[in-house]
Amino acid sequence: MTIDIDYFLSTAAEAVKDKDVPVVDLIAVQTRDPFKVLVATILSARTKDEVTAKSSARLFKLAPDAKSLAQLSEEKIAKIIYPVGFYKTKARHLTKLPQALAAFPVKVPDNIEDLLTLPGVGRKTANLVVSVAFGKPAICVDTHVHRIMNIWQYVETKDPLKTEMALRKKLPPQHWITSNSILVALGQSICRPISPHCDICPLTAGCPKHGVKPRKIPGAKMKKTDTLKFISWNVNGIRAVEKKGFIDMLPEFDADIIGLQETKAQPDQLSDALKNIPGYTSYWHSAEKKGYSSVAVYTRLEPVAVHYGLGDPEFDCEGRVLTLEFDTYFFTTIYFPNSGDKLKRLDYKLRFNETLLKFVQEFEKKKPVILCGDFNVAHKEIDLKNPKTNAKNAGFTPEERSWMDSFIAAGFVDTFRIFNQEPEQYSWWSYRFSARAKNIGWRIDYFCVSQNGKKNIADATILKDVLGSDHCPVQLEYKNT
Ligand code: SF4
Repeated sequence: MTIDIDYFLSTAAEAVKDKDVPVVDLIAVQTRDPFKVLVATILSARTKDEVTAKSSARLFKLAPDAKSLAQLSEEKIAKIIYPVGFYKTKARHLTKLPQALAAFPVKVPDNIEDLLTLPGVGRKTANLVVSVAFGKPAICVDTHVHRIMNIWQYVETKDPLKTEMALRKKLPPQHWITSNSILVALGQSICRPISPHCDICPLTAGCPKHGVKPRKIPGAKMKKTDTLKFISWNVNGIRAVEKKGFIDMLPEFDADIIGLQETKAQPDQLSDALKNIPGYTSYWHSAEKKGYSSVAVYTRLEPVAVHYGLGDPEFDCEGRVLTLEFDTYFFTTIYFPNSGDKLKRLDYKLRFNETLLKFVQEFEKKKPVILCGDFNVAHKEIDLKNPKTNAKNAGFTPEERSWMDSFIAAGFVDTFRIFNQEPEQYSWWSYRFSARAKNIGWRIDYFCVSQNGKKNIADATILKDVLGSDHCPVQLEYKNT
């Protein structure tokens, strides 16, 4: 199998964009100082990033350049940089570094051959300094790069040096500088050395997984003939709903997959408890703007692939769409834009709607698509308490309703209305005027299924008694045959 390296590296970069930047890259960006990059790189060997970051900061306070480093004794340096790996050896190398650098007419040499003459500098360090500090083409191959390039079968090599040589011949130059930080971040977070998390990796569908034993999802249920239970819920802030008992509530749903909208959080704002609910694996697609929009999925079924967004930056920066692909269907959770005050975002919403429809129609060509989420529109008069007074308001404008007509005409089924034709069936109530107590609400949360999955729809309900948000969850039962 030959992989498309451009696609693999750009997808990996996207998957790790919220992860911590490797500390050496961070120091390069923060200081733009080759001396500091060189020293931090020497310290980083066999050391965790957070330890390197703290040790480097302590050392740079006293020795921001070669001249001041020369004033420190080996013993003092060892004390400052402890507990980096092999701190005594590194202290010895750093003591000799100022004199070795003095042999060059520049502060730090910018080529591999000269760098290799410095104490404590091997190929990996030299390549990293050349690429990160000077932005020159070099391929830094550490254990993650070596391992992942072999897992992808992009190279077939026995050790990092052979990997570096093979990559020099094969890897397109535009990836030389960036591949190290991407693959280190991927290797630390998703493609881990032990039991890689293929279940959450966006590359899983096309990855050769050479020699890999992926982790098993705890509680994963793999029977194909089950009737599956899906839930969709606009939680109006995952951190707010966490304080209201979400972590205990989620297992009680006993759902196979739960799509959430308006989580209003980026992954680094989530507690460990939210990220590790027993039996479930979670996926998050967040807006660039903090505390805004964003969607997530909790699943106890193992997806074959995960698709983040619509592939259109205009919408993906708002973190509105997340799709999990399974063998026999796609599960897409969506937070549709709100048309807003004075309908300022109506045009944006209509563009989003059209893009989304085309997007899911492509999936539908392969297998059924289950869409859930806050559509931010009440389709018909029966779907809200006061249709007359809301006729020109966001969520019930002729334009939004007309798009919903075209969506249904395209074959997507509003599952709830198969089973329930009654009025006053709502999923959202304003926080004002005791609207929920009086059931003055709107049905704007849906489970819709593409025509090719219609025969599998078993039941659809609104869980109106579940509290915690201004929306309640909606539920679909689906025969996975
Ligand atoms: S699919 Fe698995 S083996 Fe392949 S890159 Fe992702 S985590 Fe690594």
